[in-house]
Amino acid sequence: MNHPLSVYNSLSRKKEPFIPMNPPFVGLYVCGPTVYGDAHLGHARPAITFDLVFRYLQHLGYKVRYVRNITDVGHLENDADAGEDKIGKKARLEQLEPMEVVQYYSDRYHEDMDSLNVKKPSIEPRASGHIIEQIEMVKAILKAGFAYEVNGSVYFDVAKYNKSHNYGKLSGRLLEDMMAGCRNLEGQEEKRNSVDFALWKKASPEHIMRWPSPWSEGFPGWHLECSTMSTKYLGEEFDIHGGGMDLLFPHHECEIAQSNAANGKDAVRYWLHNNMITINGQKMGKSLGNFITLREFFSGQHKGLERAYHPMTIRFFILQAHYRSTLDFSNEALDAAEKGLKRLLQAQETLHKIAASKQSSVEVSSIGQKCYEAMNDDFNSPVAIAQLFDAVRIINAVFDKKESLSEADLAELKSIFDTFLTDIFGLISTSGSVSEHLHGLIDGLMEMILDIRQNARQQKDWGTSDKIRDGLNNLNIVVKDGKGGAEWKLNP
Ligand SMILES: [Zn+2]
Repeated sequence: MNHPLSVYNSLSRKKEPFIPMNPPFVGLYVCGPTVYGDAHLGHARPAITFDLVFRYLQHLGYKVRYVRNITDVGHLENDADAGEDKIGKKARLEQLEPMEVVQYYSDRYHEDMDSLNVKKPSIEPRASGHIIEQIEMVKAILKAGFAYEVNGSVYFDVAKYNKSHNYGKLSGRLLEDMMAGCRNLEGQEEKRNSVDFALWKKASPEHIMRWPSPWSEGFPGWHLECSTMSTKYLGEEFDIHGGGMDLLFPHHECEIAQSNAANGKDAVRYWLHNNMITINGQKMGKSLGNFITLREFFSGQHKGLERAYHPMTIRFFILQAHYRSTLDFSNEALDAAEKGLKRLLQAQETLHKIAASKQSSVEVSSIGQKCYEAMNDDFNSPVAIAQLFDAVRIINAVFDKKESLSEADLAELKSIFDTFLTDIFGLISTSGSVSEHLHGLIDGLMEMILDIRQNARQQKDWGTSDKIRDGLNNLNIVVKDGKGGAEWKLNP
């Protein structure tokens, strides 16, 4: 690892050198979606941010185990452990089994992520598949004395925990302020303090999603699943935990408390948080009703959109801002992103049309180094992208014969674009779909095969020629020999 990477740790509130516990292995956990509706632009940001982190760590040579969960139980409408389960509610309204809702929206989430060229995580555990592990963790927290049971529900005792630990160390909040600012909401009567949070909730008679436990038939609290599943797949201590800034409190603060209570130590070494996407300066969110789904972006079917946008435009729009900066959505910003991405992709193609000269008239050796420096500075993609735009000016000038590039420098630029634009930023051609791409590939392969057959025929090697024809016939590809050479078609 020749590239010293620094990351901004939300816990220490500063940039720190990234030193994994067990190199070359890196454990990365990111909070995934609660699957009760289509993903919107706000969901694309953490997915793309941590896809960038995942890709870059892999590029540096780390073997990354990336765990991103699916929340399919326990996420209630209200953060203070009240209200209906989000998935249970959707299932009730649609008259579906909750797991039908989960399957449907998980599948659609995966399709959206594929469109955005977001790599699949190494493991994608579901909360409902880890109820036993969650119950075990509740037991451990009870045994350590940091939780209490009331009427079949178990709550985390924040005030008691805070006596020996620091509840609020991630968010920077003080317990006294939190307790003073907390309203007494309905359904909170069981708690000793309004800041306490549920580890296990007894299910009300109408609650659909329920499992047996030592305390009651019920369901786990939302914060518990991430502590449990990260421990299960990455160990009691691991390298990076990521998520949106909106999850920092209470979700991640509670995760820290749970790990300390159950295992006696912090689980996470580096906490990374992406900032929010705003719409006219306001947070975009389902609960705020001002969100646009990714599918609406791809189709243009939304009153806030002037037209459809390619998934790669959305990806580039997000990567053009540093992940810790806010990013304001507008049609104009997406138009600009589309133009910028087109320039980069065209320059990458142009690189293959340029003929090398004996000598370079321009300096390109520092571009790659500057891209690495930017990425090593807390994944600063916008600064690295600016370097690529500098390269575009050089490429276009060389194409116009105003400048020249040596063979070595040309190869260097190709390598920089393939490494950063394609592999690390995951930005791929916006013209043509996968099927068009495959068509081109098949045409090329057929041309090559028929060329080999033509050669065989010329040498009167009928054995090879017939073997190729019969082999193609078996694949339903019919070859016809004509005056202008062989033609082929696919039998339906
Ligand atoms: Zn989480």
